[in-house]
Amino acid sequence: MSTTVSPLQSARTELASFGDRLVGADDARYDEARTLFNAMIDKRPALIAFCTSRDDVAAAIRFGREHDLRLAVRGGGHNGGGLASVDDGLVIDLSPLDEVSVDPAVRTVRVGGGCVWGKVDAATGPHSLAVPTGVISSTGVGGLTLGGGHGYLARRHGLTIDSLLSAELVLADGSQVTASADENPDLFWAIRGGGGNFGVVTEFTFRAHPLETIVGGPTFWAIEDASELLAAYREWLPSAPRNVMAFFNFHTIPPVAEAFPEELHLRKVCGVVWCVDASDEDAERAMAPLLSVAEPLLHGVGRMPIAALNSAFDGLYGPGDQWYWRGAFLRAIPDEAIAVNRSFNERMPGFKAGSHLYPVDGAVNDVAPEDTAFGFRDATWSQVFIGCDPDPASASAVRDWTIGYHEAIVPFSAGASYVNFMMDDEGQGRVKATYGSNYARLQQVKAAYDPDNVFRVNQNILPA
Ligand SMILES: Cc1cc2nc3c(=O)[nH]c(=O)nc-3n(C[C@H](O)[C@H](O)[C@H](O)COP(=O)(O)OP(=O)(O)OC[C@H]3O[C@@H](n4cnc5c(N)ncnc54)[C@H](O)[C@@H]3O)c2cc1C
Repeated sequence: MSTTVSPLQSARTELASFGDRLVGADDARYDEARTLFNAMIDKRPALIAFCTSRDDVAAAIRFGREHDLRLAVRGGGHNGGGLASVDDGLVIDLSPLDEVSVDPAVRTVRVGGGCVWGKVDAATGPHSLAVPTGVISSTGVGGLTLGGGHGYLARRHGLTIDSLLSAELVLADGSQVTASADENPDLFWAIRGGGGNFGVVTEFTFRAHPLETIVGGPTFWAIEDASELLAAYREWLPSAPRNVMAFFNFHTIPPVAEAFPEELHLRKVCGVVWCVDASDEDAERAMAPLLSVAEPLLHGVGRMPIAALNSAFDGLYGPGDQWYWRGAFLRAIPDEAIAVNRSFNERMPGFKAGSHLYPVDGAVNDVAPEDTAFGFRDATWSQVFIGCDPDPASASAVRDWTIGYHEAIVPFSAGASYVNFMMDDEGQGRVKATYGSNYARLQQVKAAYDPDNVFRVNQNILPA
C-alpha cells in the first residue's frame, strides 16, 4: 500500500523551525488564516506559512519550489483579485513582519513587508511626520507600495513609491538583496510600480514628510448636481496649489446614525474628500471655488491629524464585503464621460458601491514616466469603479454593474488601469497596457531576477 505525503506533512518536517506558524487545512486556524479582505474570493491554499524573518521567507520559497507549489505572497490581504492567496499552493504570509521604526532626525521610516498603513501612521504621527499612504488604513503597505500608491498626499509628495528610498527583498533563488538608487537600481526601478513580480519585500524604507495637521473630510452634494460639479472640478483642481487635495467621488450616504444625519441616509450623492495642508482661513479660501458651484448637502470638514483622515472610512469598509473592482487612467473627463458617471451612479448596486477619481498631477508629475515602472504619470486622473456590497447574494449584480460602468468609460480612457485597481480576470493584455512602454524593460528585469516566474500570483509580468 502506498502512502502519499501531503505538502503539510512534508512542511512540518522540512520547515520544522516554523513550529505552529505553519497552517494547513487540518488546522482549526485554517479558515481564519486563509480569509481575505474581499469575501468574494474563497481560495483554499495547501499551506500558509507565517514568516517572522527574511530567512523564513527564503525557506518558504525554497520549500514551495522543491514541492512544485505555486507561491502567493500576502501583505495586507486587501487585493481586489485576491492575489495574496492561491488554491492548492503555498501562501507566504508576511503579517508577522509588521515592525515600524521611525528615525525623526533623518526623517526616514523602516516598515516591515507585512505591515498595514494604520501602524505606519501611528508611528509617524507623534513625530509630526507622514508617509504618503492610501485612504483606508487597514490596506497593506506591501501591495499598495509595489503598485504605486494613490493617496491624500499625492499632489504634495507624489505616489507612495516616490517616497520609497530602499527595499530589502528575498529573491526567487532565496538570496537576499537591497534595492535602492545605488544598489540593484534596475530592481529598484521595477518594484516601484511592478508589483510583487520580482521578489518578496521584507522591509521598506520610506522618506517621511513634515506634517502637523490638515483640514480634511468630505463634502457631499445631491447626485443631481453631479454634472455641474464634475465639470467644475475637472477645470479647477489641476490648477489648484499642491497643498490642496480633493478626490472626486460618487457614493451613497451610509445609514450610520453617528456619522450622518438621518434625512440623508441612503441618498445617492457626489462629493469630494478634502485634504488641505494650510491654515483654516487658507483652506476655506482654497475650497471656496468648488463649494460655490452648488449648495452641499453635507460639509463635514475639520482640522485633524492625517492619521484620522486616513482611517476615517475604515469602519465603513471593513473586511468581509463582496468586492469587484475595475480602474481606468483618464487624461480628460469630457462631458460624455460625466454623463456616463452620473447615469451609472444613479443606479449603484447597494450603499457601499461608487467611484473615485484620484488626481495624478502635482508632485506625481515631477517624476518622468520612464523613471519608475509606474508609467501613467501623464494621466490626469486614476478612476476606480467600486462594486461593493455586504450581501453575498449581490455578488453578480456588483460585478455586472462594475464591468458595465468600466466598459462605458473605456472609450474616454487612456486605455489602461492602475494595477492595484485590477481584478485577476482582466488578462495579460491589460497588464501590458498598464505598463505601456515600460513593459519591455520590466520583462528584462523579470528575466534577470525571476527567470522561472516563481512569483506569478500577481498582475504577472512575463520574463523576457
Ligand atoms: C478598501 C480598500 C482601499 C484601498 N485604497 C487604496 C488607496 O487609497 N490607494 C491605492 O493606491 N490603493 C488602494 N487600494 C488598492 C490596494 O493598493 C491594493 O488592493 C493592494 O494590492 C493592497 O495591498 P495589500 O498588501 O493589502 O494586498 P495583498 O492582497 O496582500 O497583496 C497584493 C499583491 O501584492 C503582493 N505583495 C503584497 N505585499 C508584498 C510584499 N511585501 N512583497 C512582495 N509582494 C507583495 C501580493 O503578492 C499580491 O500580488 C485599496 C484597496 C482596498 C480594498
